[in-house]
Formats: sequence, structure tokens, C-alpha cells
Amino acid sequence: MRKLVAGNWKMNGLRADLRAWASAMAAVPGADILVCAPHTLLAEFARLLTHTGIALGGQDCAAEAEGAHTGDISAAMLRDAGATSVILGHSERRTDHHETDALVRAKALAAFGAGLLPIVCVGETGAERDAGRAHDVVARQLAGSLPPGFGGVVAYEPIWAIGTGRVPSTDDVAAMHGFIRAQLGVAGTRILYGGSVKAENARAIMALPEVGGVLVGGASLDAASFQAISLQAIATAA
Ligand code: PEP
Repeated sequence: MRKLVAGNWKMNGLRADLRAWASAMAAVPGADILVCAPHTLLAEFARLLTHTGIALGGQDCAAEAEGAHTGDISAAMLRDAGATSVILGHSERRTDHHETDALVRAKALAAFGAGLLPIVCVGETGAERDAGRAHDVVARQLAGSLPPGFGGVVAYEPIWAIGTGRVPSTDDVAAMHGFIRAQLGVAGTRILYGGSVKAENARAIMALPEVGGVLVGGASLDAASFQAISLQAIATAA
């Protein structure tokens, strides 16, 4: 399976930033690339990425289909703006917006209902890992956040690795991905690794057979870095 390189722009970017980024990334044929953009950039990205093969995603959606939910965006709205997938349950949303596993599960159902592929994030804090509870925490998140028969993508993002420059050892990544696969009980689900992925470490991570790709935050904003990571994906798939 080709490795997926997914970028999470978080709350960054203005329309003026997109043209140069999109043309640099369009020059990486043969990689599965996805950019998960802030809602305000989706339409412009959709226009610029036409015919590039780069897919577009959102970073969250509402559990509800429509109605009186000021400030929220439905899954159908993301689809309408050109997205084909959506990140759900990112640790920043679980923390900043107190999102529970049950809410993430409801959002995943809404995403499927609108034809979006959900990318559900799980991962332990540093304290939980130090206490030897990483696997228990991830198992609980998977059980609570994924609807039965989940056919989306899981992203393992240890919270202590996000934006810190610290990454787990490849042995730890492989062990957790193997554990997640065993919890899912199905073979086909793509499991991404996320947390301080850079051009320098992407190859070793993506070379792991357990890893289906990477979810990249900070390094996805810079076209040269994201391009370098995407080239590593091609190299590991070869
Ligand atoms: C993320 O927040 O999804 C992420 C992986 O961030 P970073 O790559 O900056 O650690």
C-alpha cells in the first residue's frame, strides 16, 4: 500500500500563501498527499489543487447534519467545499474543546454519512506513557471513538510528540501500530503516525510496515519540508 502523507495546517494560513505551496506540491507525482486546511482555505485550495491529485480535507466537523449550531461546519459543507476527508478527535480539539470519545464517534458517523473519510486521532500524554498506560489509553480511545465496523483511517499521535521535536523510537511506533491493528481486528485500516514528523525522520517511520503514512503538522506548512517528506513516502513505497 502506498504511504499517505497528510498535512494538518491547524489554524494557519491565508489565501495569499496557497499558490506557491500548491505549485511546489503539485511537482511531487506518485505520492498520496492530503492537505487538511482551515475551513476558510478549502475553496481556494480546491481551485488550486484541481488536477494535481492532491486531496483536500477538513480538520473537524459537527456531529449534527445542519441547524442552529453557530460557528460549526457540517460534514456535508466540507464535502461541498471540496474535501474528501476530515481529521476528527485531534488532541488539540479533545483538550481545547473538551471533545469526548462519544462526540468523536458521532462526528465520524456524520462524516461517513456525508461521504467523507474520517481520520480519527488517538494518542497518550507523556504522563500516561511514563506510567505505562499508553496502550490502555489508546485502547479506550479506539473503543469509544470508532463506530462499529469503522472503515476510516486511524492516526496515532502521542500528545507528547506533537510540536515538540520529540518522537517515539521506531520500535515504539511499530509496537503501538501493531497494538492498534490488533484492537481494530481488521486488516485493511490505514494507521498513520503523527508527532514531529520532519524530512529527517519521515523515512525511518514510513519504512515501518505497520505505518500507513504520516500526519504532519508544522512541517506541512512549508512546501519544501512537506515536499521532502512526500518524496520519502515515494522512496519507502518503492
Ligand atoms: C499534529 O498536530 O497533527 C502534528 C502531527 O503536529 P506536528 O507535526 O507539528 O508535531
